[in-house]
Amino acid sequence: MNFTLTTLGTASAMPRVDRNQSAQVLQVHGRLFLIDCGENTQRRIREEGLSFAKIEAVFISHLHGDHVFGLLGLISTMGLYGRVEPLRIFGPAALEAMLVFFKKYFGDGLPFQLEFTEVKASSPVTVYENRYVRVSAFPLNHKIETYGYRFDAVPTPKNPEGAHQPSYAYVSDTAPFEELPSFVQGVDVLYHESTYTAEFEQQALKRFHSTSKHAAQCALDAGAGALILGHYSARCRDLQAFENEARTIFPNVFAATDGDVFEIPKK
Ligand SMILES: [Zn+2]
Ligand SMILES: [Zn+2]
Repeated sequence: MNFTLTTLGTASAMPRVDRNQSAQVLQVHGRLFLIDCGENTQRRIREEGLSFAKIEAVFISHLHGDHVFGLLGLISTMGLYGRVEPLRIFGPAALEAMLVFFKKYFGDGLPFQLEFTEVKASSPVTVYENRYVRVSAFPLNHKIETYGYRFDAVPTPKNPEGAHQPSYAYVSDTAPFEELPSFVQGVDVLYHESTYTAEFEQQALKRFHSTSKHAAQCALDAGAGALILGHYSARCRDLQAFENEARTIFPNVFAATDGDVFEIPKK
């Protein structure tokens, strides 16, 4: 089994004409897991030819607008499409108030349930599991309560301990911190925010963000197979610079743009 990751948005706080805010879709055995949901995510899902109906769960890292402003519009559109299957939504406690607000003012006649699960973790904790994948949340070091998510394939009865099982981790907005590599230890593919290039390191740390070199160091320390960068500041335009800098520390790195597709593990 493979995971397939599609980046929907790779911008940070300010969207650009060619770059949307944070959102990704991870496909696991025909089901879709939406990770963060910046503005315009529902249009990006359609542009990538992905199906709303196959979205099984949504994982929100934190309550900054560039990671969550697209969620209410997406829920509303799912309702217009007549979804009846409950939608599971995971995120920090503050997200529940946003969903309650939605239900009160816009949720009349919504044909499906929103099943919210509060994420609270000071170390990695399993928040979701089906037959094929186990999702755990782990804390990050940002201005507000923020979580990363790790997706590990569940060993199947046919393959109890045999072939390699794919794994993926999403490290959302964070400054570097000591425990982080251990939370994402050994993943095939690590996505790590890289808001700035190294020349803006002071600014990155002040704003609880990472540079491309921080991301690369995390990938190296975690023993990751590959590193994907995203969440670029609008002031850093040259993605090649992100990649080149990171590569001085960790060789297998890709500066993602919107609409990139990655097979995990890479063949
Ligand atoms: Zn952000
Ligand atoms: Zn943030």
